[in-house]
Amino acid sequence: MTKTIFNPVRGMKDLYGIDLTKYQYIIDNALRIANKYGYKLIETPIVENTEVFQRSIGDETDVVAKEMYTFKDKGDESITLRPEGTAGVMRAIVSNNISVTKNNPLKLMYYGPMFRYDRPQKGRYRQFHQLGFENIGAMSPYTDALTIALAHEILTAVGIFDCQVYINSLGELSSREDYIKAIVKYFSIYEDKLSEESKIRLKKNPLRILDSKDNNDKEICSMAPKIYDYLSKNDIKYFECICDILDNYGIKYEIDNLLVRGLDYYSHTIFELKVNNGQYKDAIGGGGRYDRLLNILGGPDVSGIGFAIGMERLMMLLDDNKFKLKENIISVIPVSENENESAFELYKNILSYDIRAEFVHIGNNLSKKVEIASKLDSNILLIIGNDEVKDNTVTVTYMNKTEEEGRNTVINRNNIINFLKYN
Ligand code: AMP
Repeated sequence: MTKTIFNPVRGMKDLYGIDLTKYQYIIDNALRIANKYGYKLIETPIVENTEVFQRSIGDETDVVAKEMYTFKDKGDESITLRPEGTAGVMRAIVSNNISVTKNNPLKLMYYGPMFRYDRPQKGRYRQFHQLGFENIGAMSPYTDALTIALAHEILTAVGIFDCQVYINSLGELSSREDYIKAIVKYFSIYEDKLSEESKIRLKKNPLRILDSKDNNDKEICSMAPKIYDYLSKNDIKYFECICDILDNYGIKYEIDNLLVRGLDYYSHTIFELKVNNGQYKDAIGGGGRYDRLLNILGGPDVSGIGFAIGMERLMMLLDDNKFKLKENIISVIPVSENENESAFELYKNILSYDIRAEFVHIGNNLSKKVEIASKLDSNILLIIGNDEVKDNTVTVTYMNKTEEEGRNTVINRNNIINFLKYN
């Protein structure tokens, strides 16, 4: 694409039309579900002091080392467009002195744009949006399992029924450190055979070698030491307890020993959500437990767990057709004044399901009313005449169809809401 001011910056895009409808639909569902689980919304600035991310995400991670939009502002301060939401939320807890203790946990939710200078491709942008949740203070397998259940519930609520959870444990800090030593030793033996990227990771961020997409690396990884052998008894007990609770919840998951995730702050439980229907292979969302994040940024020494869902990836999986429906403009039309009351009842019922509709009762006769509905850009008319009242039916007229294409159809009035929602 030629660079012109008439295009957005590479890897960034405008959000409008059906995509924006999908975005709002996901957020509406997330807010409803978050409320049930006791999460409160927080909005933090899009830019933070660069150090907030360096200290928390880790200097050697890809996100900090390669992908941050970091600038000097006019006062010569180094600021960064946020590449993720967790660090800013932790910083906000500290700045605003928001109370959080082990026994008085804090549950926060956020959504908005994030920025990573990554190679743009399907499902990967330089400006993308995340919907994130943080549960800080409480450390219990129930908290972890409930967090995973929350992520799963949001995806299911918006229509992703085949989402698969992958989980792993990195154990407490000391387990993780012992494990890193073991894999460095192991990968050093194969250093010559590793991909160029993994060679660099071996020096800077060895855990991420396990994440490599390179086939040769993958083979070497398959024989690498397993994290499970480095977990303490307590780590294992904690992890198994989470699995039991998820079983009890009926949430399908798979234990993936190679799962490490890209940010340095994770310990104990980590997880990702993917769809297994071949539509898209990368994670739709992911997260995990972080023991020291709040403390690193100057807050109390409490653990937290969180996750983020990538909005663009989720939107991509939602069927456009389902959202085109929202653009329907329905007109409820009584044939004569005699049917006003009955038609009005139907109209109120439709509105109560948050379906957009007009009540077209002005106009001397049916053809005048159809003309009015047409000027309102209605594409579906619900006509109630004498027969319809008597038979408890509705005549549905599709304005854009011919007689042969089924312009008119009569349906039972009890089925009208399902009909409008799903047809
Ligand atoms: P992370 O913050 O790296 O744990 O990512 C959480 C989720 O954000 C991922 O599962 C993706 O759905 C989404 N995500 C991360 N990076 C990008 C990107 N560059 N473009 C679009 N979505 C992204």
